[in-house]
Amino acid sequence: MRASGRDAEPFPQDHKNTRRENMKIAFIGLGNMGGGMAANLVKAGHEVNAFDLSDEALATARDNGCATFTDAAEAVQGVDGVVTMLPNGGIVKSVYEGSVIGKAPEGAVLLDCSTIDVATAKEVIAKAEAAGYDMVDAPVSGGIAAANGGTLTFMVGGTDKAFKRAEEVLNAMGKAVIHAGDAGAGQTAKICNNMLLAITMIGTTEAMKMAEKLGLDPQKFYEISSQSSGYCWPLNAYTPMPGVGVESPADNDYKGGFATALMLKDLRLAMEAAGSVDAKTALGKHATEIYEAFAEENGGLDFSAVIKTL
Ligand code: NAD
Repeated sequence: MRASGRDAEPFPQDHKNTRRENMKIAFIGLGNMGGGMAANLVKAGHEVNAFDLSDEALATARDNGCATFTDAAEAVQGVDGVVTMLPNGGIVKSVYEGSVIGKAPEGAVLLDCSTIDVATAKEVIAKAEAAGYDMVDAPVSGGIAAANGGTLTFMVGGTDKAFKRAEEVLNAMGKAVIHAGDAGAGQTAKICNNMLLAITMIGTTEAMKMAEKLGLDPQKFYEISSQSSGYCWPLNAYTPMPGVGVESPADNDYKGGFATALMLKDLRLAMEAAGSVDAKTALGKHATEIYEAFAEENGGLDFSAVIKTL
């Protein structure tokens, strides 16, 4: 049997299992990722107040031991911390400005785990800090399986004090919690990592297909290149061709894994951030164009399915 590939978006580091105090935490946004994360907070002994616009998400949260609320501002009453896992920066900003800042107790620590643009992350944290809160951006690496299994990696931006307080909450949902730097540094780490991942995935698929067209058995190419200077995560741990290398979404018709639509979302955030500081990202731009075209019809497939374009 072939070895199994690892979850997308690697960010390895040893996890230190620290003892934590039980807290009352409001969790806003219990979708594919947030649902499992909130359940893990309950399992760790925390009291969780759940709020989501979806009744289905709230019903699942209730089954998982959360108290459910129909108003976010009510869910944050009397809590020690607030965690958000929402689709985009616009929603994060409106939730914090409308229902969290000034509504949660001033001593509460605020953690946004969504993947959003760096500028909005900094803006929301600045507003929260001005109102007296400690807040971090703490986007994740790892998909739905890691969210359910409590094995996410968190990249955290914020002050030392905010990080220390956030770490206690994040330890219950992940295997690694890394302080990336000041506010916004978590989002920066996330989009730079995923831009690199998109580029190396496309490069890996090109090399594998070219080797095959030139008559080299793709498995031989994998054996050689995975032990040579072509070594990289998409080839070694997530081989994008069915039946070759390690087991991966390619062996499941590119279902599961990390959706092309989500990779495209992250690439667009990366391009926006690159433009804001005039960073030269020729390959990042090209990778974004390739995923934009591919996502039109294939947004739900794993991002390694980009090999189909060759
Ligand atoms: P999702 O769409 O499954 O969940 C988002 C949830 O937010 C939904 O339940 C939705 O009803 C809720 N929501 C939307 N607006 C709301 C509001 N105003 N108030 C309360 N709830 C609201 O998305 P997801 O896959 O869980 O992703 C969440 C975040 O995690 C995104 O930022 C995504 O980029 C990031 N992320 C996802 C993955 C993944 O594999 N799915 C991996 C890494 C990071």
